[in-house]
Amino acid sequence: MCSKLLQGKIAFITGGARGIGKEIALMFAKEGCSINICDLSAENLKAAREEIASEQVEVESFAVDVTKLEEIEKTVNNILDKSKKIDILVNNAGITKDALLIRMTEQDWDLVISVNLKGTFNCSKVVSKAMMRQRSGKIINIASIIGLMGNVGQANYAASKAGVIAMTKSLAKELGPRNINVNAIAPGFIQTDMTAKLPEDIRNKMLEQIPLGRFGSVRDVADLALFLATPASDYITGQVFQVDGGMLM
Ligand code: NDP
Repeated sequence: MCSKLLQGKIAFITGGARGIGKEIALMFAKEGCSINICDLSAENLKAAREEIASEQVEVESFAVDVTKLEEIEKTVNNILDKSKKIDILVNNAGITKDALLIRMTEQDWDLVISVNLKGTFNCSKVVSKAMMRQRSGKIINIASIIGLMGNVGQANYAASKAGVIAMTKSLAKELGPRNINVNAIAPGFIQTDMTAKLPEDIRNKMLEQIPLGRFGSVRDVADLALFLATPASDYITGQVFQVDGGMLM
């Protein structure tokens, strides 16, 4: 008998070559899932692909930008040609371009909204077509607690993640009748390249606000993503789950 939780499943994970996305890909692979990752950096994709393949699963990597609908359509068609279905979509690709409002450029506003929010729209739109035909699917959106609470210097990022949360709830309503679950994870402060660039004093200030007394790990987020990808979460949709050590209550 097969004991792996995602045996026979096909996943598409955006921004899967680094950080949280790569950890989710590795965790799904350990559970027998075939993995498709996309990312901007071909070099990072190559390294991630080798690491994920060591779990003895099929892995494909695509150097595509989630902001480009046509590129995403081509990528998803490639996956469908080979695998015939997509069971799990993880909208993880995301960026920050922090600045106080008066110093924030129009370009940095547009870029963050484009990657975090439009990227989630693009991938959900294309993949949900296949999931609707299949009459099944799990969409997991990586939002942020900043989308719930706001933050100084992150008007663009907060707006993009609040948008992702609102989109999650709308899509849960639209796609629920086709047996597609749509949920969001709102991580707090997770140790990745994205947070490594923050100054020491800001990191220390944040740590003081975390009741569990530590920053989160990529594993903390991937554990929840795995739950949301398995049948254990079949009756859960339209929800936002915080993985933040109690930072926002
Ligand atoms: P990283 O910066 O470590 O990784 C993000 C990944 O997304 C990179 O591999 C990056 O590629 C990729 N990416 C960026 N832009 C695009 C694009 N246009 N198309 C395709 N791929 C792209 O970030 P994290 O792992 O920390 O974050 C992952 C997600 O989690 C993000 O959505 C982030 O907002 C969210 N999050 C993170 C938190 C944290 O504390 N770390 C807290 C809350 C939410 P490349 O390497 O080529 O730039």
